[in-house]
Amino acid sequence: NGGEELGKCESRIMVFVRVRPMNKKEKEAGSRCCVRIVNRRDVYLTESANENDYLRLNRVKGRHFTFDASFTDSASQQQVYSTTTSELLEAVLQGRNGSVFCYGATGAGKTYTMLGTVESPGVMVLAIKDLFSKIRQRSCDGSHVVHLSYLEVYNETVRDLLCPGRPLVLREDKQGIVAAGLTQYRASSADEVMALLQQGNQNRTTEPTRANETSSRSHAILQVGVEYRVRDAATMSIVNRVGKLSLIDLAGSERALATDQRTLRSLEGANINRSLLALSSCINALVEGKKHIPYRNSKLTQLLKDSLGGTCNTVMIANISPSSLSFGETQNTVHWADRAK
Ligand code: ADP
Ligand code: MG
Repeated sequence: NGGEELGKCESRIMVFVRVRPMNKKEKEAGSRCCVRIVNRRDVYLTESANENDYLRLNRVKGRHFTFDASFTDSASQQQVYSTTTSELLEAVLQGRNGSVFCYGATGAGKTYTMLGTVESPGVMVLAIKDLFSKIRQRSCDGSHVVHLSYLEVYNETVRDLLCPGRPLVLREDKQGIVAAGLTQYRASSADEVMALLQQGNQNRTTEPTRANETSSRSHAILQVGVEYRVRDAATMSIVNRVGKLSLIDLAGSERALATDQRTLRSLEGANINRSLLALSSCINALVEGKKHIPYRNSKLTQLLKDSLGGTCNTVMIANISPSSLSFGETQNTVHWADRAK
């Protein structure tokens, strides 16, 4: 059905940047802050020690960028959620799909933004809270059902984070591409969900050498499906609306960027994140308005086929460190985000 609707309501990718606070290690190393955010939109990258250096960067290529919004290190989780994701949730309740991605190098703040901590819950948890509160506010006779699934793509293997075990097989059926046997958790309140997601996050793949750290090559995808059923008073027929929100904590971008220019085929067997590259290709194709979007190239893009492009809303949050120690990665991430606009 997507093809017909494309012209009517074309989607755009909304792109945001979030800087995390400087950490202890970066401070102790005496590193400088090399990101300046102005007017809540503009991002300046500068290696200069001069406080006002950014003022001359307006016309310097590759140093000044504008996004839909940019968040300083003092932005709250709630601000980030409200600005980036709450509109998408509204659309999901109207039966449309949407997706929110966190992109950036390892340590840049992707998991903090998406999952957050118990004290400062992130986008995933705030979205579910908001969803239940919006459902409660709706004065209608219909019924809502909320289903959650939480899965991982690691080395092109799909795993159920709510029920770890054997890899899941992707199948194409009437509804699109589905992971066979994936747990669909029927959620009834926001409170139960935080613990569930924290637990699921514990199930993400770790490198054998760093057993306590989530692998930088693991993508975590939370899918929140909302089904609304009501009997239309005039026609007495059942109206059924289904929308889905996908929230994705992507793998670290550090390896992918170095090889961005190479083709997927030449990466076969290399220690490169195929799903991350395939996502970049799909986003570039969408931005360029191409007819053919290469969803089939990876597990991640197959899983998100119904939530990316077409009439779907897409949000990209680029996470960066402020420290001069990470200047190269920050530059790569911001350039990547700039191309997704
Ligand atoms: P990533 O998932 O991109 O590898 P994390 O989200 O794990 O990075 O962030 C690295 C560290 O920085 C974590 O200890 C996290 O709690 C902290 N951190 C990241 N972003 C923020 C933020 N906006 N405010 C406070 N701490 C943050
Ligand atoms: Mg992480």
